[in-house]
Amino acid sequence: MSIRVLLIEDEPAVADFVARGLREEGCAVEWAADGDAGGRHLAAGPWDVVLLDWWLPGTDGLSLLRRFRRDGHAAPVLFLTARDAVPDRVRGLDAGADDYLCKPFAFEELLARVRALARRPGPPAPLAFADVRLDPAARRAERAGARLDLTAKEEALLAFFIRHPGEVLTRARIYEHVWDGWYDGLSNTLEVHVMELRKKLEARGPRLIHTVRGRGYRFGEPPG
Ligand code: CA
Repeated sequence: MSIRVLLIEDEPAVADFVARGLREEGCAVEWAADGDAGGRHLAAGPWDVVLLDWWLPGTDGLSLLRRFRRDGHAAPVLFLTARDAVPDRVRGLDAGADDYLCKPFAFEELLARVRALARRPGPPAPLAFADVRLDPAARRAERAGARLDLTAKEEALLAFFIRHPGEVLTRARIYEHVWDGWYDGLSNTLEVHVMELRKKLEARGPRLIHTVRGRGYRFGEPPG
């Protein structure tokens, strides 16, 4: 089976060189020329490998990558970047990139990395806590065997909670991971989402998201 590659790259010369080369090697390549088209293509996967340029018109590559991972997608991402400063590479890897390649690169090296990434095992196992299950790849959540109809944000929030059972999670930390942002201490966006998620979870069982007064939330069995 051929490798399905999504190429998000705004420089036509680079995109053409990469897409042509990969097609000659038998890959199926789709090309998005800016960040916004890239976001739409990412959501329309599945992809075996994503080649993502850092600097793009519209949404930049780093933001695209963060959103892609936050939405629960596990497809391997290779960052293409002109930058070779260590902190930028670290930022890319931290945001969920699997590998990176600095421009200009040799096609042989790109091809070797694409093949290596495509050979990696599939998406991670679904997440579970008590009678709650969340399969980010399939975008499916359930409690006590009944399907929960969650928004993408609620899914991301639930995934973060399940990954950190029993911990006191401050609002700032949740904002940083789930909203990719900065908490101004004023907005009640988080509270509203927690309320909605709680409602859906509690329709099927006891409370799992506990408010820790003045600090944030704790996910798990009731205290005491
Ligand atoms: Ca670029």
